[in-house]
Amino acid sequence: MACFICETCGTQFAESAAPPPACPVCEDERQYVGWSGQRWTTHVELARRHVLRIETDGDLLGIGMAPDFAIPQRALLLPTGAGNLLWECVSLVTDDAVAALRARGGVDAIVISHPHFYASMVEWSEALGDVPIVIHAADRAWVQRPSPRIRFWEGDVLRLSHDITLLRCGGHFPGSTALHWASGPREGGALFPGDALQVVQDRRHVTFMYSYPNFIPMRGSDVRAMRERLLGYDFDDVYGYTWGRNILGGARAAVDASFERFLQRLAA
Ligand SMILES: [Zn+2]
Ligand SMILES: [Zn+2]
Repeated sequence: MACFICETCGTQFAESAAPPPACPVCEDERQYVGWSGQRWTTHVELARRHVLRIETDGDLLGIGMAPDFAIPQRALLLPTGAGNLLWECVSLVTDDAVAALRARGGVDAIVISHPHFYASMVEWSEALGDVPIVIHAADRAWVQRPSPRIRFWEGDVLRLSHDITLLRCGGHFPGSTALHWASGPREGGALFPGDALQVVQDRRHVTFMYSYPNFIPMRGSDVRAMRERLLGYDFDDVYGYTWGRNILGGARAAVDASFERFLQRLAA
């Protein structure tokens, strides 16, 4: 028995004797099946081939896989008023990473934006002392490894503390969640949007895709709904999905200009 992990999206599945027949995350039009067909690995195998990069990204501690694996996102440790939050998740857990997190006070909860980054969230929760995993209920059907540690939240806004708010942005997935940190990591605050919006290569704009790898734009109505939901939340920084994909400084204006540009292109 093993908890198989999809090689292309990095999602860990519930324990089974044989690999699952298919990966629903990759068969969905937002992702893709690897060019050489569906491939599976296990956590034990991953630990032989990969290590974790434990490095600073912007003003935060990041954890990502090396060499790159699957999507390849990196998780961030957010020391907030709601406790130490691990934002997003990766497919591999190592003793080094757990020790690095413990040295910074441990992790109180794992919060994940959407199904592409569920990765090995249950494995991580167990390694960190059975901490809760907070994800939006609208994406419940995408959970491949159920666990009593998972706490589904509902609605459009969840305040975790005076400085941390989860905002359901939708668009990419119905439950696509952004985390707003009003007072950190720097004074002006930061937005952690998952894939609800993505920082583009110039790192002065963001874009809004239903599928990033397959270039399927988000519906205009979903983009407008997201813009409404983000109104009134200020932030200097946007931390994107992977290393360095951040807008550090002036991010609120960059996001506003990007909403405008994108919606104008859609309407043209
Ligand atoms: Zn997959
Ligand atoms: Zn995604």
